[in-house]
Amino acid sequence: MKIFNTISDTKRYLNKLKKQAFTVGFVPTMGALHEGHLSLIRKADQENDIVACSIFVNPIQFNNKEDLERYPRTAESDIEKLKKSGCDVLFMPDNNEMYPEPEKSVFDFGHLDKIMEGKFRPGHFNGVAIVVKKLFEIIEPHKAYFGEKDYQQLAVIRNLVKNINNPVEIISCPTIREDDGLALSSRNIRLSREERKIAPYIYKILKLVKDEANDNTPGALINMALAEFQKIPEFEVEYFEIVDPGTLLAVDKAATGQKCRALTAVKLGKIRLIDNIEIFF
Ligand code: AMP
Repeated sequence: MKIFNTISDTKRYLNKLKKQAFTVGFVPTMGALHEGHLSLIRKADQENDIVACSIFVNPIQFNNKEDLERYPRTAESDIEKLKKSGCDVLFMPDNNEMYPEPEKSVFDFGHLDKIMEGKFRPGHFNGVAIVVKKLFEIIEPHKAYFGEKDYQQLAVIRNLVKNINNPVEIISCPTIREDDGLALSSRNIRLSREERKIAPYIYKILKLVKDEANDNTPGALINMALAEFQKIPEFEVEYFEIVDPGTLLAVDKAATGQKCRALTAVKLGKIRLIDNIEIFF
């Protein structure tokens, strides 16, 4: 696996490979890699000649300074994991390499970046869009892989590539979970032992909503979920929404058989966790 810290070295190396008609699959990450990230790398490895991954803790997508400072950084073990998972090229820039000048771009995603995550993390998706656009311009991948764990991010990125006419194909990958259902996340290692025991209830409640979707309206399901969360005082729910899986607009009335997505964000102590599930009415 080749490791590069500069944009010019990364471009030069990948351009040589692209001249030989190799296809490139790209997996952008912020490091502290777990099986969720590695599942994206493996899928990219199956579908492309070359797999490129980036590790960059993007400061401008953090709306909370403490979250940025405490974000886990585990470069050495990340590199070992990537080597074993089929990654060919790792791009690990520092802040100066990515942002030699302060970033001023402002994207317009319509309602997409104003609801749910957008509402609770102002500026977050603009920061994500800036870094992903830059990374796509550096790597110029044929396909890029993103997790359904960050479902709203996927919608924003699909919208971004359409707006900037980037030909990259966006591939979504299912959420990888612990045996007890907790979605893998780099932030999970910051949960206390007690919090870690409680965290799997998020997925339990999402599954309950999925199981009950047939006999209930979206409004009734949201109330049911909120009532379940209330039983566990450690949880502070930021949102629980049932939305159209494409537009992410709230669904008030669902037809029989209609596919929707339930998404939630909760705080458990200082840690903010997000998860989502597909549901059918
Ligand atoms: P991050 O390092 O958190 O920015 O995540 C990098 C990529 O990995 C994003 O596309 C995430 O959606 C994806 N990802 C994170 N956690 C999981 C998971 N548990 N299962 C699948 N993909 C994930």
